[in-house]
Amino acid sequence: MSERYLLVLDAGTTSTRAMLYASDGERVATAQADLTQYYPRPGWVEHDATEIWDRTLDCARRMVSQAGGADRIAAIGITNQRETVVAWDRRTGEPLHRAIVWQDRRTAEQCDALRAQGHEALIQQRTGLIVDPYFSATKMRWLIDHVPEVAGAGRHLAFGTVESWLMWKLTGGLHVSDASNASRTQLMALVGNGWDSDLCALFGVPQQALPEIVDSAGRFGETRAECFGGAVPLCGLAGDQQAATIGQGCLAPGSVKATLGTGAFLLAPTGDTPPRSGHRLLGTVLCQIDGRRRYALEGSIFVAGSLIQWLRDRLGLIAAAADTDAIARSVPDNGGVYMLPALSGLGAPHWRPEATGSISGLTHGVGRAHIVRAALESIAHQVHDLATAFAADGAAWRTLRIDGGMSANDWIAQDMADMLALPVERPVDVETTARGAAMLAACGAGLFPTLEAATAMAPTRHRFDPAMAAPAREQRLLGWQALLAQQADGRAMKKG
Ligand code: ADP
Repeated sequence: MSERYLLVLDAGTTSTRAMLYASDGERVATAQADLTQYYPRPGWVEHDATEIWDRTLDCARRMVSQAGGADRIAAIGITNQRETVVAWDRRTGEPLHRAIVWQDRRTAEQCDALRAQGHEALIQQRTGLIVDPYFSATKMRWLIDHVPEVAGAGRHLAFGTVESWLMWKLTGGLHVSDASNASRTQLMALVGNGWDSDLCALFGVPQQALPEIVDSAGRFGETRAECFGGAVPLCGLAGDQQAATIGQGCLAPGSVKATLGTGAFLLAPTGDTPPRSGHRLLGTVLCQIDGRRRYALEGSIFVAGSLIQWLRDRLGLIAAAADTDAIARSVPDNGGVYMLPALSGLGAPHWRPEATGSISGLTHGVGRAHIVRAALESIAHQVHDLATAFAADGAAWRTLRIDGGMSANDWIAQDMADMLALPVERPVDVETTARGAAMLAACGAGLFPTLEAATAMAPTRHRFDPAMAAPAREQRLLGWQALLAQQADGRAMKKG
């Protein structure tokens, strides 16, 4: 492989980026632009799809010019915020409304109705997903029902998630989505080809408005010459969490990645067996190559890094997130303090949206450091609860690989190794999402024969081995479980 680069477009939620990778996996350069967040009503979150395109193109052009021109780019890989829906007109290529972002809750009632009508079992069985406004299908239906331009576009209407929108703009009219992104719409079955007609009918989404579902690696098309002054092959596509899983080299069952950002996303590959969760974890497509799907089981924690922000901005207990490491080390243990960080309910595997947080064990002997330590410990406890659920669903973990802003905290990484009693690994370069897209693009361009071979692009890792004595670990787990049980009791009392 020569001096040609892989260009990754990483269209995230708060920012969009373009990055250049050498084919040995070294990240050579990055350009970034923020995205405007629109909150037109409580619970609604929108993006301007034109802004996503303009800023992504601008970042990409800066990278192409740094590489020395379009012919220095071997392939482009795209990774993106998932589930977010763009509606555009095929004639003009212009959006018909602002994009409805994954966080948007406007279709909660529609979801309640689907559940009340007894559709959840079918939806979950086919798609691996629960009924929730998070996913794309109800957002598409909302656009048809509430935006006259969308309803009026008729057969010219095009729907897509963000990678699909960028592919359309880059190629000038190719309408595709890869299976990892399509698996988040709730309109594609985990097993089968194309869109699921029953699901499209159930959600009221016209199939003709949807993109063609393609592999996550391959030669999908080329960029229009106007974009970069020459045609560049488009070879990799994946949703951000799937891309991060691949970028972490988590391809075999037993491996799992946790992205510890504002919240935490955990994905464990399950090979070619579609996952079926009995614990409300999500089944999803990890990627599709040569028409063959690989799957993953997914669980998310709502509050991870945002707990640290809360300690800083609401409680004023810390000056900076990075200080928490030294503060936690300044005391020998949590002093009997436990924190349930249910600041916005509890996610998987508890699914208690109405839960509120609590701190237990306060005495005169408790100081700031104990409370900060209890907050950090709550991250490992939440991850441990997920580990139990994944194992019960037949996807036990053997090694955990972490990334995201919070993974920089050595104390948390060590605590997770201790509580899980598993090795925890952190790559030197934690930009795993973009790296995964680079690996897919490299595969698609034929630089590697398989995704496994492309893990040669994975970075070196730092390893944290479990070191906690069994009794101390037991005590921690009991303390946490007691607090969880208290929360559940409190809920029962309120209802009673
Ligand atoms: P996102 O992609 O969700 O915006 P990031 O991956 O950038 O999030 O991570 C940012 C989060 O990580 C913030 O919530 C911040 O509080 C937390 N964080 C950053 N550095 C540390 C640290 N050293 N220790 C603990 N938490 C941290």
